[in-house]
Amino acid sequence: MPGGAADPRRRIPRTDALLADARLVRAAERLGREAVKEAVNRAQRRARAGEIAPDAVADEAVRTLPDALTSMRPVLNATGVIVHTNLGRAPLSAAARTALDRAAGTTDVEFDLADGSRARRGKGALDALAAAVPDAEDVHVVNNNAAALALCALALGREIVVARGELVEIGDGFRIPELLAGCGARLVEVGATNRVHVRDYVAAVGPETAFVLKVHPSNFRISGFTSAPSVAELVDAVDVPVVADIGSGLLTPHPLLPDEPDAASALRDGAALVTASGDKLLGGPQAGLIFGTADLVHRLRRHPTARAFRVDKLTLAALEATLRGPAPPVRQALDADLTALRARTDALAHALATGAPAAVKAEVVETTAAVGGGGAPGVALPSVAVALPEAYAGALRQGEPPVVGRVERGRCLLDLRTVDPADDDALLAAVRAVAGEGA
Ligand SMILES: *Cc1c(COP(=O)(O)O)cnc(C)c1O
Repeated sequence: MPGGAADPRRRIPRTDALLADARLVRAAERLGREAVKEAVNRAQRRARAGEIAPDAVADEAVRTLPDALTSMRPVLNATGVIVHTNLGRAPLSAAARTALDRAAGTTDVEFDLADGSRARRGKGALDALAAAVPDAEDVHVVNNNAAALALCALALGREIVVARGELVEIGDGFRIPELLAGCGARLVEVGATNRVHVRDYVAAVGPETAFVLKVHPSNFRISGFTSAPSVAELVDAVDVPVVADIGSGLLTPHPLLPDEPDAASALRDGAALVTASGDKLLGGPQAGLIFGTADLVHRLRRHPTARAFRVDKLTLAALEATLRGPAPPVRQALDADLTALRARTDALAHALATGAPAAVKAEVVETTAAVGGGGAPGVALPSVAVALPEAYAGALRQGEPPVVGRVERGRCLLDLRTVDPADDDALLAAVRAVAGEGA
């Protein structure tokens, strides 16, 4: 008889009794009472629905406790897009993660332990950045590259001369020209969309000009009848500072990316300031890196608005460790050896084709990986992928861990170039779990 004395649902433990379970008491210290209560209530609902036995409720609550209190979940990036903006751009190196953990507590970020006085904030990170780019007289770090450009506009001000073909939209509707104008600068646009010449810049530079800005078109490419002067040519021709926004954050040239500008070369070519992102090809935390002459960097650092662009200790810690430590995941993905990549891909396909719970129709295909929104728009990196039926794409995204592949011509491609080899087993398990559900 439903609801009668024999109804097992009557035996579902009450919330306060469950919360007194020693395991859940300990969990509440770590996660807070609310998160534990949610797990308990979820388990009670499952018991009420007859999905689990009443005496399994406590175990079920323990089993489903969250392991961290962030709603952001770790995701396996199998897209082959190395710097994936929607997946958080650069994944940090193990060294940077350890550094983050260290800096998270009370730390001497701005304190001299020797004499107890205030010290230069983030000295270690700034020293590491300066050491990585010896051509820079001085360096500064702000929240992101957009902040670096905003600070240039605010501190150096007035009029900025920039080529029409370099009026870039960064993403999510934000545009560099509007950013600079929003900081009170007046933009003087020179050249045509596809071509701009030294003489265009020379004609536009006047007494009000604060600097000439050269923006690297890092997320698109114009090909055909195009031309634009180099930083060196501009420096030779105009007598105002040339500021180079190189975008991706290569500090020195990279052999696979011959068209991607780097900070050292831009400075050697005479750029007075170079700005870049920390979380693109450098493979570090979100940050805006500024390199340049001592005088200009000093003006940026001491401008009243500089404080609004200040990075926190976590950024400084992760940046320093990225600069000093082993190659971060972005560089490993970029420099991945194709033979090794093929061996990993073959192993994954083989394990899927032969393994439990269900053999998966997995094929190894040649593909191309990309640097991504972070730079080098024209560069196709040869790669290999496991091709699965397209239906896997959605199911894998909703699995544990979520896996994001690339859907191409009716197939779901998993490109291991952007997967840490240490995650290969987790990737295999995630695909098998989907296969077991009958994707
Ligand atoms: C990515 C990029 C930006 C924006 O950098 P954020 O670090 O995202 O603010 C600006 N300019 C160029 C050339 C870029 O590539």
